[in-house]
Amino acid sequence: AHLDRIELVEPQLNAFITVSAEAAMQQAADADARRAAGEVLGPLAGVPIAVKDIVVTDGIQTTAGSKILENWVPPYDATIVEKIKAAGLPILGKTNLDEFAMGSSTEHSAYGNTRNPWDLDRIPGGSGGGSAAAVGAYEAPLAIGTDTGGSIRQPASVTGTVGVKPTYGGVSRYGLIAMASSLDQAGPVTRTVLDSALLHEVIGGYDHRDSTSLDAPVGELVAAARSGAAGDLRGVRIGVVKELTGEGYQDGVASSFNQALDLLRTAGAEIREVSCPNFPLALSAYYLIMPSEASSNLAKFDGMRFGLRVEPESGPVTAERVMAATRGAGFGDEVKRRIILGTYALSAGYYDAYYGSAQKVRTLIQRDFLAAFGDVDVLVSPTAPTTAFKFGEKLDDPLAMYLNDVATIPANLAGVPGMSLPSGLSDDGLPVGFQILAPVKADDRLYRVGAALE
Ligand code: GLN
Repeated sequence: AHLDRIELVEPQLNAFITVSAEAAMQQAADADARRAAGEVLGPLAGVPIAVKDIVVTDGIQTTAGSKILENWVPPYDATIVEKIKAAGLPILGKTNLDEFAMGSSTEHSAYGNTRNPWDLDRIPGGSGGGSAAAVGAYEAPLAIGTDTGGSIRQPASVTGTVGVKPTYGGVSRYGLIAMASSLDQAGPVTRTVLDSALLHEVIGGYDHRDSTSLDAPVGELVAAARSGAAGDLRGVRIGVVKELTGEGYQDGVASSFNQALDLLRTAGAEIREVSCPNFPLALSAYYLIMPSEASSNLAKFDGMRFGLRVEPESGPVTAERVMAATRGAGFGDEVKRRIILGTYALSAGYYDAYYGSAQKVRTLIQRDFLAAFGDVDVLVSPTAPTTAFKFGEKLDDPLAMYLNDVATIPANLAGVPGMSLPSGLSDDGLPVGFQILAPVKADDRLYRVGAALE
């Protein structure tokens, strides 16, 4: 049924770069056979899933949204893909994204725009617009996203879906094509909070192949979602982040956010305002740290090892000239912009002023979270300052595009978990996302509060 749905709506949406129909049917049959043989499979066995095309899949093209990896077929599965297969979920295909996950609109993909199912003239968010649109348009009941600065939560926000960025280290990064290794984290994109909890429990847990993996249990996430669904939040202290509300947030976003706060109050939660004074610096720090790490991670796309190889048009074919020609032709503008930014921020003479300062700001933001979580159990804010904007609106203005991440980035810099879930529609008729943030390793709190609000 989902493959039929994909066939029907894909010509308009373009949520997928690759649809792996045959493999999905085989995986579904395998799950049935395993069950028939008496194997006890988990609750999601047989439920299909879409995977962001920056997560490597054995035998299925993985492009990261870039021309430089067109037709590249990985020889192995990411750990989360192994876990998904072991749990019996058929993989429908690979979803569209901004090239190497750099962007907030999916307009930076080398494989065309993905449209927002709520309004085909609008962006589905980014970088994981494909996963969010696929779930929002009923092409897939579940999807995997990755979130370095908001790429799970902001697309969820503008498509009316649920997206979760787990605690850093809670879900293995092995087999994720790295953008910024100290910030990247994979997580669920779904239609309900409970679905996210179920999927999070499938993909989470320690992995010896990821050196930053947390050696801690995933937690009782499904139980937390079920308890939250009863709607009783008495004793839960919720902090509204002062710096992530007010100016810069669209009226319809602010009013939807306030209605959600009323619901939480009705459920018995105690709501208070909390100040995180360094959060306004997060965006600037992120756009130094993230490009720095990306400039280093993307050095491996050199035209030699895998992916695209372009020979220089004339002159000698040296390694350096092949590299320059390949990277010149294979990377898009946004990727080049960030490689240049990152290389500059890391260069001798500028390192302390830029990268070094950004790392200090990162520590200040971690301290803001620690102080806030001394007073409250979770923090909340709108996920994004606006509802889905129109194609082209911010494409030529990188700073305007970067401002979409203002509320989501602090969580990545501090490694704390975050969820975006729908809080209704804005006065423009478009979905609004409500963000919940919890302390490191307290992902269960997201599910309890999220399910109460749903
Ligand atoms: N929009 C942010 C960026 O462009 C976040 C990207 C992400 O989370 N992958 O960097």
